[in-house]
Parts: sequence; structure tokens; C-alpha cells
Amino acid sequence: MTQEGYEHYPVQYVKTVGPRRAALLQRLGIKTVRDLLYHFPREYQDRTVLKPSHACAAGEQVTLRGRVVAVQELTPRPGLRITKVRLAEQGGYFFALWFNQPYIKKQLSAGTGVLVTGKLERRFGEIQLAVSDYELLEGDEPAGGGGMVPVYPSTEQLSQRLLRSMIRMALDEWAGQIADFLPPSIVKKYSLPELPVALAHIHFPPGEREAVRARKRFIFEELFLLQLALALRRRRISRQIKPHRYRTNLELVDKYLAGLPFTLTSGQQQAWREIMADMDAPSPMNRLLQGDVGSGKTVVSTLALLRAVDNGLQGALMAPTEILAEQHYLTLSGTLAPLGVKVGLFSGGMNKKEREALLSALSAGELPLVVGTHALIQEDVQFKRLAVVVIDEQHRFGVRQRAILQYKGQYPDVLVMTATPIPRTLALTLYGDLEVSTIRELPPGRRPVITRAVPPSHLPAIYRFICREVAAGRQAYVVCPLVEESEKVDLTSTVQLIDELSRGPLARCRLGLLHGRLKQAEKNQVMEDFRRGEIQVLVTTTVVEVGVDVPNATVMVILDADRFGLAQLHQLRGRVGRGAAQAYCILVSDNKSREAQFRLQAMVSTGDGFVLAEKDLQLRGPGEFSGTRQSGLPELKVADLVRDWRALELARQEAVTLVRRDPELTLPEHHLLARELYHRFSAHRGYLAIS
Ligand code: ADP
Ligand code: MG
Repeated sequence: MTQEGYEHYPVQYVKTVGPRRAALLQRLGIKTVRDLLYHFPREYQDRTVLKPSHACAAGEQVTLRGRVVAVQELTPRPGLRITKVRLAEQGGYFFALWFNQPYIKKQLSAGTGVLVTGKLERRFGEIQLAVSDYELLEGDEPAGGGGMVPVYPSTEQLSQRLLRSMIRMALDEWAGQIADFLPPSIVKKYSLPELPVALAHIHFPPGEREAVRARKRFIFEELFLLQLALALRRRRISRQIKPHRYRTNLELVDKYLAGLPFTLTSGQQQAWREIMADMDAPSPMNRLLQGDVGSGKTVVSTLALLRAVDNGLQGALMAPTEILAEQHYLTLSGTLAPLGVKVGLFSGGMNKKEREALLSALSAGELPLVVGTHALIQEDVQFKRLAVVVIDEQHRFGVRQRAILQYKGQYPDVLVMTATPIPRTLALTLYGDLEVSTIRELPPGRRPVITRAVPPSHLPAIYRFICREVAAGRQAYVVCPLVEESEKVDLTSTVQLIDELSRGPLARCRLGLLHGRLKQAEKNQVMEDFRRGEIQVLVTTTVVEVGVDVPNATVMVILDADRFGLAQLHQLRGRVGRGAAQAYCILVSDNKSREAQFRLQAMVSTGDGFVLAEKDLQLRGPGEFSGTRQSGLPELKVADLVRDWRALELARQEAVTLVRRDPELTLPEHHLLARELYHRFSAHRGYLAIS
């Protein structure tokens, strides 16, 4: 059994646990002794300084100390049994109430000392405490050691008391057999407590200091393992040899560039040079192209795709929404037709026959380029010679999806793009396996979008303004407030709005309606009409949030703007200001709350996506921001990518150094580490390439 290790030992066999409690533990995701010991306290209750009951306020959550005077059993109604215990304390007494736990009575003989935790109420002239947790005292000391008592995330049927005793039992049985997997040099360098000590101290700290140190170790451990996995993945990719090679002459690329109505900005050129160098390397490209909305990432990625075509290879472009996929398809097929390059669109709206035709063209290698949503990563989509994969608006996809498309080809060159900048520490992890290119400037001649936040009373003036812009040949978006989840609300609010607008303030404009409930073909039609200027004002939901590029649109009105997050507002604003004409973004809201005002003012004050990302962080706090799960990486349990950025940087350095020294983790001193890594990321093996 010790051979197996505590990560496999079923928690059920820990003394006092058994099958019934094991089933309850399973609800908390606890199956093994390891899981149980890694179920860390949410907080600690300090029971060293206790107030008397009369000093506590009603409604307060408190821990009190008392000595049993009398026990009374009440049955106020069928199904409710109350054990009411009168407890003497210094200078008075109070009542502790246990609900439907009649067995409690046996433990509470007169004179017994107890600690009780719960909500204090003043009722009928009595001080009463509804007990949620308790502990018997031996002499004056709590049996459990007192001091800082751990409080765990738990479920209703599993009391704190029970969890505590099971964890204590598991620690007693196992602590002696748990070896630290962190390399001793690292443990020493950062003076981390060793694993068995850290486990003991995070659950039952002798004092505050030990609790903090134990937690610090687990934070480091978590970040280190994640960075190690990422470093191994980077290394693995860098050692793959791709089967395709590119010639150095760039016939199609040059023709395409010559046909563009503009020249590349220096940021675009720099990014393209970096991409070319990656493509020329024997190992696959794995690069992130970062650049604010409107910086012209699409053109750069098109160059990479064309280079594949130039060499008789295939390229794929994946976008997060059908609308964006369709737009890319139209742009690409439009600009590439003169070059004789065929482009396919893989859309959810295809019928069976179209789909099959496309599939066979791809697998036969007859179709050099294809655009699509995540439909592109379905199993039956096969390529003959996939060499370049571009993923647009990468933040909308998880890392897993990225990995799947990567495996479709034989080590294709992968370029992912994003306009949603994230703070550096997040990028280190979420994009930890990628090289990064950044386009810092916008194409010349762009004027910053003039942004205003106004109350709804300004709407008539706003609509008059839209009419003037339309009369001058421009176009506008009016974005409705809605929550993506409730498509019904979605529908009625947009339909109602367009109805009002067409009868009143925008009667002289040609309006179009776009929302999530439309069929794909209908959406495409609406977008095309908007692109051609047939529709002058597009009343829409956030389906246009990312990527949509209609340079003639100059006005973006966002209704109930306070309902959107900063990143979303910035993306929406990015739909205008894509041409040379002055553009406007009008945020309409009557929400006076501080948070809403902060967000709206942030939008007004800057057009820089990076600045907004930092403000967003400031606003939302680290917790919400740093969810790794959404991105497909393992969820962090104790560490926080933002709060713990210092530890993250150190962990990353250590991981990189270690992988350089022992790339396969084969040194004897890394044996336990390799095992731990494998165990921790078993569910993410495919992406992190851990074996
Ligand atoms: P994003 O980086 O947000 O994806 P796009 O690639 O959609 O931006 O480009 C935004 C607009 O800018 C497009 O209409 C594109 O044709 C245009 N554009 C791209 N590069 C340049 C450039 N160097 N000069 C002028 N316009 C450009
Ligand atoms: Mg884009």
C-alpha cells in the first residue's frame, strides 16, 4: 500500500471514513487520501480569543465557550427536534441549539466544556446560538488543539467537525510516508516547508506564521507544476520536425502585397518577419500575434496562409463565430480570386452534400485554403497537407481546441491571434507555450474613436446624429443590451427597438436587424447588406462583438452600456474607426453605481486595449480574471495568477531551468516530480503532452 502512494489510496479505507462518508467526500471531488489532504481550509477561525455572548451582536457568526448546565429536548413540530443546552460562561449563560441531532445529548453531560460556533440571536430575552460546528473541551483546551481551527469548503451533510477529524486521521496515518516531490534545491532556495510539514500546517497550524508559510508552499508548488508542464510542452514542440518546408521565393505573397491598397505598417512587417523565421525553422511555429482591435492582424495571417499555398500546401483559418468566419471567407476569397487561389468556407449551415464535397476536396488536397468555426476541428475533417493553421480571436477558444487543430496536420505551423490584451502574468500562463509578436500601432490615418458616456435622455440627439452621419454616406451600429444566455429576451428587445426606431427617430434610414436567433443564412444576408451599404444602421446584439470589419461604419451606439464588461465594450468599439473617417462610440447608460461609472469613464479616457486590460483587472480583482479553466488549462486551487505574480515568475524560471537541465525528467532526483506531474495533469495530458 505504501508502494502505491497516497494519490491512489481510496479515502474510504482511512480509519473512521468508511463507504458512506466516502460517498459524501466524493461530492467534494475527494476520492483518495491525497485528495483529502489537498482539500485545504478556506479560512481559519481564531479560537484563542473568545468574547462572552453578551458582547456579541445579534446575527453575528461567533464561537463561544461554555460549560453544560442543563440539556433540554424540544419537539416544536413533527420532524423538528431541538436539543437546547444551557451553557454557563464567565459572568452569565446562553443557550446552544442543535437541530435534529438527538445523539448530541449523549456527549453533553453536565459540567462538560464546549466550544460552539454558529449564528447568535437574541430571542425571548435569551441569547441563543444555532450551532453549526462544535468541539468538546478537555480541561480548558479544545480536544482538537484549539488555536486556529480550519474551516473547509464543504457540503451540508459533511460537518466541519467531521471533515476535520477525517483529515486529522489521514494525516496521522500517512504523514510519515509522504515524500516531497519538489526538488530539494528548490525547497531550500525558497525556504519552503517540506510537503508533510506543509500538509500538517495548512490544516492545523500551530500559529498564523506556519499557516501562511504552508499556503505559500502550495501556491508555489501549483504554479511550478503548471509552468513545468508548459515548459515541457514548449520543448516538445520545439523538437518536432515538421514534414513541410517552404521555398524562399514568395510569389503569391508578393503578388498579394502588391495588390493591397495600402502598405504594411512597421508593426505588421515586423510580425511577418518573425512569422517567416518561424516557418523557416525545422520545428513548427507556435506563435501568438497580439494587436489591438483594428491593427490589421488579418492581413499578416493571410501572408502566412498564402505562403503555404505557394508551396502546394494547405492552410486553415478558424474564427470563433459564424459571422466572423463568413467575413474572413468573403475577404479572402475576394482578394485571392485574382491570384487564382480557391478558398472554402466550412460553415455550420452547409447541407450534407456541400459538406461532403468540401471534406473530400480538403482530404484530396484540391482545396488549398479553408475558413471555418470550431466546426473545422470535427473529427471527420481531414487535410491532405495542412501546413499553416491560423486561429483568430484566440481568447474565445480554449487551449484544447487549439491542440486538436494542431494534431490535424502533421505538425502544422500555428499562428493564434488576439485583440484582447491580458496582463503579462496571465499571458505567461495562458499563452505560456507560445512565442509572442505584438503589433503596437494602428494603420496610419486612423483617428482615435471619440467616445462619450451619456444618459438615455440624450437618445433623441444621438439618433439625429446617426441620421446626419448616414446622410453623409456613413453607417452605424446600435447594440442592444442583452445577455447572451437569454436569446428570447434578446429577440424581443431587438425587434421592439427596431420597430420603435423605424417608426420614429430613424425613419429615414435603412435599418437592418441582426441577432443570435436568425438562421445562419439570414445572418449572412444581413451582414452582406450592411457591408454593401444596403443597410445603413444595423440594430444588433453582441454577435458583432469580435472581428467584424466594415470600415465605412463610423458610429457605435451601445445601449445600457453598463451591462457590458470592459473587454467587451472595447471590442464593440473596435467595430468602428476602421477607416480614415472620424468615428464615434456612444455609451448610453443611466447607471450611477461606482463600478459602472468607473468602466464607462475608463472607456472614455483611453482607446488603448492594454490600459483597459489593466483597469479591468483593477476593477474585477484577480480572482475572476485568472480562471484558467475556461482556457482549458487545469484549474488552480490555491494560486492566483494575478495576486501571486511574483511566485509565478519564479516558478516559471525554475521550471525553464529544470527542463533545460533534465528535459525528460529522467534524473533520479526528478523521479517523484515526474510522477506528480503525470498525476496532476492526467486530465490534460493531450494538450500538455505529458507522458
Ligand atoms: P484586426 O487586427 O482587428 O483583426 P483587421 O485585420 O480586421 O484588424 O484590419 C482592420 C482594417 O484595417 C481592415 O479594414 C484592413 O483592411 C485595414 N488595414 C490592415 N492593415 C492596414 C494598413 N497597413 N494600412 C491601412 N489599412 C490597413
Ligand atoms: Mg480581427
